Amino acid sequence: MRGLLLLGALAVIVALLWPFLTRLRRGLPPAGGTHRDELVKDPVCQTYVVLSRAVKRQVGGAPVYFCSPQCADRYARGERSA
Ligand SMILES: [Zn+2]
Repeated sequence: MRGLLLLGALAVIVALLWPFLTRLRRGLPPAGGTHRDELVKDPVCQTYVVLSRAVKRQVGGAPVYFCSPQCADRYARGERSA
């Protein structure tokens, strides 16, 4: 009977702490997000863009960053015609 009470208390504690734990996990940056303020160069218009705001496209398995979807499209078109 006492064991059951202890188990119930434990369940209540976990239930109370769970939102904090999930919030903590969500607050952490995703893997590889440590360089989010890094500057990347747009190969189309030669503009430097903050990585977190850049438009990312996979080109030949490697990520290429652009200032806008328009530049990404221009790059993709250029790659195909070249
Ligand atoms: Zn651009």
